[in-house]
Amino acid sequence: MFTIVFLAALVLMVLTKLWLAARQVRHVAQHRNAVPARFADTISLASHQKAADYTIARTRLSMLEVLAGAAVLIGFTMLGGLQWLNQAWLETFGPGYAYGVALVASVAVIGGLVDLPFSLYGQFGIEERFGFNKMTFRLWLADMVKMLLVASVLGLPLLLAVLWLMERAGSLWWLWTWLVWMGFNLFLLVVFPTFIAPLFNKFEPLTDESLRQRIEALMQRCGFASKGLFVMDGSKRSAHGNAYFTGFGAAKRIVFFDTLLARLSGDEIEAVLAHELGHFKRRHVAKRIAVTFALSLVFLALLGWLATRTWFYTGLGVAPNLGVSNHALALVLFFLTLPVFTFLLGPLSSQSSRRHEFEADAFAADQTNAGHLVSALVKLYKDNASTLTPDPLYSAFYYSHPPAAQRIDRLLAHA
Ligand SMILES: [Zn+2]
Repeated sequence: MFTIVFLAALVLMVLTKLWLAARQVRHVAQHRNAVPARFADTISLASHQKAADYTIARTRLSMLEVLAGAAVLIGFTMLGGLQWLNQAWLETFGPGYAYGVALVASVAVIGGLVDLPFSLYGQFGIEERFGFNKMTFRLWLADMVKMLLVASVLGLPLLLAVLWLMERAGSLWWLWTWLVWMGFNLFLLVVFPTFIAPLFNKFEPLTDESLRQRIEALMQRCGFASKGLFVMDGSKRSAHGNAYFTGFGAAKRIVFFDTLLARLSGDEIEAVLAHELGHFKRRHVAKRIAVTFALSLVFLALLGWLATRTWFYTGLGVAPNLGVSNHALALVLFFLTLPVFTFLLGPLSSQSSRRHEFEADAFAADQTNAGHLVSALVKLYKDNASTLTPDPLYSAFYYSHPPAAQRIDRLLAHA
């Protein structure tokens, strides 16, 4: 019975994702030959067509990824992959922590290996073809090794703590695990900007004196600690430009990609910064963290219950280890199959993210000048080859930022 529910949900997810992607490809292709009227003065037909081709190439790649992901999931569950791995590690290590870590790690490594060709083709095929790739294969490889190391250093203690709680903390282990999970996430928010991100990029204070002065004046007006502004050497990997807001408390900071600073005027940079400060002022980071924590409590409670049901294992093609612990097995099965049941939450999260973007835009329009933010956005859309004509359903489902036309309409109404 559970097998049927799982397979039905998987088919629904795959078909929905493929259908949305196909809509996006069709919609973008249909609008490829005309720049939308409002952008006619600012975006050339050549740029518009480049954005269309780039969007279509990336969307097609994502369709292949959806199919590969579904194949891997079926391989692990219905085709017995996980059952085989589980038996192999049990025979090698016997029940215990070594077995648990080996099972989780091997599933993660297999998933990573399946992603590898897509990531390689995305970077050295698509990004390269559209002139965005600035990485050598050597740098790509070095990044990969570093990411693996960081994931092991951070993930291993977390996994051991969770397995230990599942073993020792009784039937409310999931509640304790939730507390550990919250602590771990807050810890990440502090160490990511200060220790992890610097492993991959250089972060330097802004050197342009006049720009720094006006930015500091703006940050002071908004009550933001002024040491939190950094320039990152994003040009090391990609020509895409961006700015983001990260961390909290003393670790909070605003990061500008050097690629962005190189393209925008002082006025535009100030407006983009005001937008990022808007996220900070409206407490968007704190709100997202609160929602994530609430959801993870629900999911962990669900896992606490599922882990003791035999049908949860057998329904997904795995025989539970009779008489010994199933902790690692329950974790792996749960996190492999959860996305199949939660993908419909995606649009809710995108929707709330887009509301936050509108709020940050409104804040920027109040603090600086809506027109400057509009011209910055147009430049960013153009330089990043982001399509101006996304499919309405596709963008409603996936987009964390409102489509360009909507954002600019609101800003102009505000001006
Ligand atoms: Zn934003």
